[in-house]
Amino acid sequence: MPEFRVPHNPALIADLRPPHREDPWRILFSGCLLGRGCGIDGSDYGMGGVLAEFLALPGVRVLGFCPEDHTLGTPRNMPDIHGGDGRAVLEGRARVRDEHGNDLTRAMIDGAEAMLAYARAEKAELAILTDMSGACGSQVISDGCRLVEERRYQLGVGVATATLLRAGLPVLSQRDHRSLGLLRARLEPGYQPDPEARDHHQHPWVLAHLGGTSGAES
Ligand code: SF4
Repeated sequence: MPEFRVPHNPALIADLRPPHREDPWRILFSGCLLGRGCGIDGSDYGMGGVLAEFLALPGVRVLGFCPEDHTLGTPRNMPDIHGGDGRAVLEGRARVRDEHGNDLTRAMIDGAEAMLAYARAEKAELAILTDMSGACGSQVISDGCRLVEERRYQLGVGVATATLLRAGLPVLSQRDHRSLGLLRARLEPGYQPDPEARDHHQHPWVLAHLGGTSGAES
């Protein structure tokens, strides 16, 4: 299957059509990145201002969706993936459970499919999602429940991200600073991306703890 994760395939950025004020890029964002109170506790996890400058660019049409809120509601328990990542969930090799062990797999897949249906209805061309989430993560997610004394992590994608990628929608996260800079350079003439910026899988912590790759390829 082709890799549609933008940080692992930078050619996807060059492949996007030129953005115009009259016909902006249609970008799907995690609801919490737009400041919506769709986190498990009704907050936006402090994500609301993270992409403020990017969201204000005239070449961006902002679309927002929360796959967990869609099926599980807010507030809700914490869904995390056990036994693999979102791709493994879709293939029936891993499950989503909350902190009490309740199986949320079906609800998470339903929320992911609803997110994909929304993306298709709005003709989204790209998705920028919140990393570390069992739904929206695209680089690093929890390995099992995160509400434990020693949280474990894994390289992988959440259930919604896996669903979007499988449908061919490119995805990156709010922590993929290198790719976000390259995107912004296409949206804002004269903008100079930071040459030192890194995507999340290139971050020293990820390289040291999870053995990520330092280059663009996965
Ligand atoms: S499921 Fe996605 S949009 Fe919803 S709160 Fe979690 S990270 Fe944000």
